[in-house]
Amino acid sequence: MPEIVGEYVDRQVNVEMLDDNFPRRGRTHLLYEAARAKQGLPLTYLAAKGLIENVKQGDYVILLSGAGISPWLEWGENDGPCGIASLARAISFGLGANPVYVGNEKELGPVIAAGMVAGVSVLNREAIDVYKRKATALKVPFPLGEEGAEEKGIEILNEYNPTAVIGVEKHAPNPVGVWHSAAGQATPGDTIPHVHHLVDEARRRGIFTLGIGDGGNEIGYGLMREEANEIYQQQFGGATCQCGCGGGGATATATDVLVSAAVSNWGAYGVSAMLAYMLENPFILQDPDTERRMLEASVMAGSVSFMGTIPWVDRTSPEAQQAVVIALQEIVKNALRRLPVGGFPAVEGVTKVPGS
Ligand SMILES: [Zn+2]
Repeated sequence: MPEIVGEYVDRQVNVEMLDDNFPRRGRTHLLYEAARAKQGLPLTYLAAKGLIENVKQGDYVILLSGAGISPWLEWGENDGPCGIASLARAISFGLGANPVYVGNEKELGPVIAAGMVAGVSVLNREAIDVYKRKATALKVPFPLGEEGAEEKGIEILNEYNPTAVIGVEKHAPNPVGVWHSAAGQATPGDTIPHVHHLVDEARRRGIFTLGIGDGGNEIGYGLMREEANEIYQQQFGGATCQCGCGGGGATATATDVLVSAAVSNWGAYGVSAMLAYMLENPFILQDPDTERRMLEASVMAGSVSFMGTIPWVDRTSPEAQQAVVIALQEIVKNALRRLPVGGFPAVEGVTKVPGS
């Protein structure tokens, strides 16, 4: 049954609604199909299953956020923070674990704001370790650029001993160290926290890792790097990126599970929905009103889309974000609803129940 629910949750979060100026238009289903072929079962199901199997009450879970590139997206992009906030809620309310937000200090603002609206406060270590505060997260700023990034990743893993590491819309470089936009152009890596080292180290330690993205250039797509580069070739007239670096636009950073979605936030909502279903608690997934307030909180804290500081995400309206949440809530609640045993009683001579 969870595989059936996961099938339609995957589809719900993979309906592309982009305008024709958006650089990755038409790529969503290609990336999804390749990710699905690589992993077999529905992606949101595999993600939720991995979290349930690995994360226990009181554990720390690292959430990697922030897709900003200075100065265009100084306070971060608004695809990412609400996805992280949704997962923070699901991890807190569903699994009793504590999220640790790791990223560029400026970009943690929208994450914390959206997370607070979703129901997760940010306090200090003492509140969690000594006072056992639930629905409480920590924030850990990560330095920008390559210098010291590897050491910082190790330090964080040693300090929190997390049982899962999750990236949402978190970019990472290709195998030759070049960072790319969704359009395949090279982007500067020195204004970005190099948290991909933390993911690589977590994998070496056998910690469950999950990547959620929508373009092929985010943490997780290393799992299907060759396939993503082939999709780029279809879109970029034969080249694997637009900068000529030779390494391709797809990231080298792989995770145990990759959730590919039309919008990264939606991929995260899909994972929250599967947690809600598998833990039999629809409350775990934010409701549509909360979603709207999460979006507005994220924007008020400075996150932007390429349309400005309005609560649109990847060119889709706030109503579209709420609609996705409404549909996911419906999938989860209907899947959990129990009708009276036996259903409609059979009546002799009647082979079809009216309306069925
Ligand atoms: Zn390149």
